[in-house]
Amino acid sequence: MKKGIVYLVGAGPGDPGLLSRRADDLLAAADVVVYDYLVSESLLNSCREDCERIYVGKQPGFHAKPQEEIEDILSARAGAGNTVVRLKGGDPFVFGRGGEEIRRLTEDGIPFEVVPGVTAALAAAAYAGIPLTHRECSSTVTFLTGHEDPEKSRMRVNFRDFGRIGGTLCIYMGMGHLRFITDELMAGGLAPETPAAVVQWATLPKQRSVSATLGQIAEAVEGAGMGAPAIIFVGDTVAESRGPGWFQDRPLFGRRIVVTRNPSQARALTERLEARGAEVLEMPLVQVQHSADSEIVDDVFAEIGSYEWLIFSSVNGVKGFFDLFFRKFEDIRSLGFLRIAAVGSATATAVEEHRLKVDLVPVNADGESLVEALLNQQTMDNSKVLVVTGNLGRGIIEERLEEAQAIVDVMPVYRTERTDLGTHPSASVFRRSGADAITFTSPSAVRSFVAQAGSLQPESGARTPITCSIGPVTSAAMREAGMPVDVEASQQSLDGIVKALVNTFTNESTGRS
Ligand code: SAH
Repeated sequence: MKKGIVYLVGAGPGDPGLLSRRADDLLAAADVVVYDYLVSESLLNSCREDCERIYVGKQPGFHAKPQEEIEDILSARAGAGNTVVRLKGGDPFVFGRGGEEIRRLTEDGIPFEVVPGVTAALAAAAYAGIPLTHRECSSTVTFLTGHEDPEKSRMRVNFRDFGRIGGTLCIYMGMGHLRFITDELMAGGLAPETPAAVVQWATLPKQRSVSATLGQIAEAVEGAGMGAPAIIFVGDTVAESRGPGWFQDRPLFGRRIVVTRNPSQARALTERLEARGAEVLEMPLVQVQHSADSEIVDDVFAEIGSYEWLIFSSVNGVKGFFDLFFRKFEDIRSLGFLRIAAVGSATATAVEEHRLKVDLVPVNADGESLVEALLNQQTMDNSKVLVVTGNLGRGIIEERLEEAQAIVDVMPVYRTERTDLGTHPSASVFRRSGADAITFTSPSAVRSFVAQAGSLQPESGARTPITCSIGPVTSAAMREAGMPVDVEASQQSLDGIVKALVNTFTNESTGRS
């Protein structure tokens, strides 16, 4: 029988980017993952589909599983030969009961390894821009807990002693006793003017922070309505932080932005928005499926050498076309001597990935501009043209080319279908909490949104999003559907959308909350 093992793995404070590579590799190999509340679910993305996921954290209204039961699970699953990852928030050996778990595993003769994680104090300090040590004012760092055992509210640390020690104090689990803790530190000798800060939900899009003096921090935290999970920092180095810190200073920080593109294309926009601090909610309103009529495909490929121009109106078209092409031909030269036009820069880049030069990209990324640019170059009279599209193309390229007496063949290579978001998890977040902005990058997504508007209605109290369109064609579809167009990208691209949103939200004098 395969020998089981338990990996005690630190998941870091929440930002998935702070998971270590070793942790990610172990998650991908795990038969069983036993995980806690603070761990964001997206960390489990690399787990195998057949990996058993056991949640042992707190649930609203319920307590976490008792520690002994967790240890039973670890021991039993590994004892049966499984590779078990015990995933814990932050670092497993910092206020994480990792010590108790390895004691039990040793007693049961189960092998284990430990993978450190970024502990909350280090993460909160980094993301709030608070240096923990400073040559001029602090050469010690202390990690303390507000209550020794999360299940007991009794205080075991004598905070007066630490008031005497000074340096930089990082207090975990202290929010329930903040006033008592600060009083004790002052009673121990720390001046009420000592700088202090509290950082809640560190590294996550909902991170919040306040700073005040030690004497006033409890009141400031109360005023801001902040609670757990948070780290309390006390010490002179706290004054070295600048403003709310680089993380919260990013231009889209705290904004929830909806991305409605199809799942395989959403990532590119999501990453750009997240890099500017936004919390992104992916609601794929449409889905693209490669599909083509085999008769048309055969006809086109039989005379592929006879076309003068090959025109792509979307990235999906490029993908679909070359999939079909290489199924039929082995050699790119089978394309013949045709010239290639692409409607916009993203489409052109997709063509260039095949080491093919694109001969024409119009300044404005739309069908009208493409045909205009073609006609500026040459007469299309009697030119044979292949237009690669999807099932929802507007037909404008074909129409205009035919007006110019070209001989046009159309080859649809994909279908865009509406996704029913009724039971999608992000749709329920959207209904419950709303968003600051919703982005549309195609008329098909607009129509899908309107068709299911009933089930995407934000509840009362939820934020009402502004609408943002990638360009004129999408905006026209929005207006036609009776939707407002609050923001339109001036440059029709993903970067254009990001720029438009950053401008909108940084120029807003009063931020929404
Ligand atoms: N093993 C964990 C600590 C678990 S105790 C670690 O190494 O970080 C739980 C406490 O950690 C919380 O009460 C809070 O004080 C702190 N904490 C965990 N995640 C946090 C986060 N994202 N932001 C601020 N504090 C956090």
